Amino acid sequence: MAENDDCIFCKVARGKLPAYILYKDDHVVAFHDINPQAPVHVLIVPIKHIPDLEAEAEEGEGLVGRMFQVAARVAGELRFAKNGYRLVLNNGAGAGQIVPHLHLHMMSGRRFAWPPG
Ligand code: AMP
Ligand code: ZN
Repeated sequence: MAENDDCIFCKVARGKLPAYILYKDDHVVAFHDINPQAPVHVLIVPIKHIPDLEAEAEEGEGLVGRMFQVAARVAGELRFAKNGYRLVLNNGAGAGQIVPHLHLHMMSGRRFAWPPG
């Protein structure tokens, strides 16, 4: 699945929808969430249209590993790594996934409850 014309994150990844981009390479893009749930709220997204983790596993390209590497890199660059950060991946509508294009939330700058809501 290279691109989905109706997908918000495909549009962001291809520059068709504006976003505050923090990092981009041939496989992954990271940008600020439009509706932040913490002082820092970044989304880490594969460029390819991959709906969820199951599809990612089928593709077998190791993109999830890359997404986590980019999260750590952005956390270092924005200098909040030492304060800690919460990574969340809502996989499937039942878990709260609204945008059906795989993405990792990275949040920092406040206290996070456990268990998560
Ligand atoms: P989820 O509920 O895990 O699917 O999260 C989707 C996230 O995408 C939410 O946190 C939204 O605020 C965020 N979002 C939706 N549209 C945009 C956009 N155009 N730019 C940045 N973030 C967005
Ligand atoms: Zn997409």
